[in-house]
Amino acid sequence: MKITYEVGSGLYVNTTNRCSNSCDFCVRTTAKDFYGDLWLEREPTKEEILEAILSCDLKKYSEIVFCGYGEPMYRFDDIKYVCKKLRESESVKIRVNTNGQGNLINKRDITPELAGVFDCVSISLNAASAESYEKVCHSIYKEAAYPALLDFAKKAKEYVPRVVLTVVEGTMSDKDIKTCFSLAKSVGVELRVREYISSDSQNK
Ligand code: SF4
Repeated sequence: MKITYEVGSGLYVNTTNRCSNSCDFCVRTTAKDFYGDLWLEREPTKEEILEAILSCDLKKYSEIVFCGYGEPMYRFDDIKYVCKKLRESESVKIRVNTNGQGNLINKRDITPELAGVFDCVSISLNAASAESYEKVCHSIYKEAAYPALLDFAKKAKEYVPRVVLTVVEGTMSDKDIKTCFSLAKSVGVELRVREYISSDSQNK
């Protein structure tokens, strides 16, 4: 079972295949072998995740990134445990790459619990409106996903030092990118325009 993998200077952590979206561009379907065999036959326990991370030479990495084939917020309670344990013995920067639907997935506002867990929350915005998001990302929450994502970003900013919304270069018009910059500003976070399947993100 491949729980960790390297991308650039980051140590990436794969905890689940599950996702609330079914994005047209997801590497789970478009490039399944892009990072080797990351498809998990079963989800690792929180102890297995911690052990897999601690078995790596953490000094080699600039950050630990919870990303994975699926949406890490499905494993939020376990990831929270792992991060807290890591911080007891290691001086590490920790980021999560998420689709921003963590509050919907966990059926509660988890943003206060992000404090001290992550140094950075990177959220895929992917579109300039709820309608266009749904056309590309096909969330199980339908058009409720997009406003929930923006609300998650706004609330997360109260508890996490850095919150970033991301869009993928070449997938939307300049006008839409401008709209995304305004949306990011309206919720008090930054927007990053990243490359398609960029070197620092598997799929989010
Ligand atoms: S790209 Fe990310 S959010 Fe979209 S389906 Fe894949 S894992 Fe889920």
